[in-house]
Amino acid sequence: MIDNFGRKINYLRFSVTDRCDLRCRYCMPTKNEKFFKKENILSAEQIKKILTLFIKTGIKKIRITGGEPLIRKDILEIISFLKIQKDKQFLKEILLTTNGTQLKKYAKDISNLGVDRINISLDTLIPEKFQFITNGGNLKLVLDGLFEAKKQNIEVKINTVLLKNFNEDEINKMVYWCHENGFKQSFIEVMPIGEVNTSRVNQFLPISFASSLIKKKFGLESLPLSTNGPSKYFKTKLGNVVGFISPLTDNFCSSCNRIRVTSNGMLYPCLGDNGSVNLKHALHKNDSEIIKIIRNSIYHKPEKHFFNIKEKAYVQDRFMNTTGG
Ligand code: SAM
Ligand code: SF4
Repeated sequence: MIDNFGRKINYLRFSVTDRCDLRCRYCMPTKNEKFFKKENILSAEQIKKILTLFIKTGIKKIRITGGEPLIRKDILEIISFLKIQKDKQFLKEILLTTNGTQLKKYAKDISNLGVDRINISLDTLIPEKFQFITNGGNLKLVLDGLFEAKKQNIEVKINTVLLKNFNEDEINKMVYWCHENGFKQSFIEVMPIGEVNTSRVNQFLPISFASSLIKKKFGLESLPLSTNGPSKYFKTKLGNVVGFISPLTDNFCSSCNRIRVTSNGMLYPCLGDNGSVNLKHALHKNDSEIIKIIRNSIYHKPEKHFFNIKEKAYVQDRFMNTTGG
């Protein structure tokens, strides 16, 4: 599928739930969060049906995300379905983004189901700070999950959101820790998706801040490595790979190959745009009609997002736990 701007769209991120067992302060409000009504959330059968139609339209890579995908009770049924698609070579890659709290329990199954790589969110290595930023989370649970995933030979990448007055003093420490433990790592600029309890200006740190610190201490050599994702990858002198994702200061929209579906069945061709189409409401139609709706939405994928950290969030109607990352 080629969109209006000549971009080949072959990567779907599917958020299977907007619920989460954590409350990261940059992701969603810590109080009065609003979640989808239960009856609006797609069943596993509906998710599988939608996934099948996307695969038919040319999607080759699927990332399961959330909210926290591993708190969905039928998550293994959904991933098993993807494994069948991959075994039949309809799909190239199955990926997962998780906060890691349930990984100790699930790592073995995830490994057996052929998940290619998982991204685990980790913004600090200090338990008290972890508890603060996640509004009550337990760092040990995540670390236990992370090391279980490593034990099961799952390729792990750590995702770290850069947060002013929070983790700038841990950047090099985390790079070293990832090197010691054999994890890739990506640093991410915080995006103004939904109004959280703090001003985004107070949270925002540009990627250049992290990259210059890391370069000074460990060196950074540019790598051609591409996962078709938004990260630009570098190798440190230690030998580990560090990526930088800069949606605000150096957007990657011109090479964006991603679309997203939320757990209530909305297809968003762009993370940073309000345009969407309701696939759940279209499910009574026949397959070719639904595929037409999908193709049309993809064709009209916006050229770029309009994030601006200083202004009111452009995306007002949802938070990252809705669309996932
Ligand atoms: N719960 C899972 C997790 O935390 O990995 C999956 C969903 S979470 C929304 C996906 C990713 O989005 C995480 O790496 C998280 O740190 C990131 N994220 C959440 N809110 C963000 C924001 N406002 N700007 C940038 N990244 C954000
Ligand atoms: Fe939950 Fe992930 Fe959002 Fe944190 S970033 S609140 S773990 S969905």
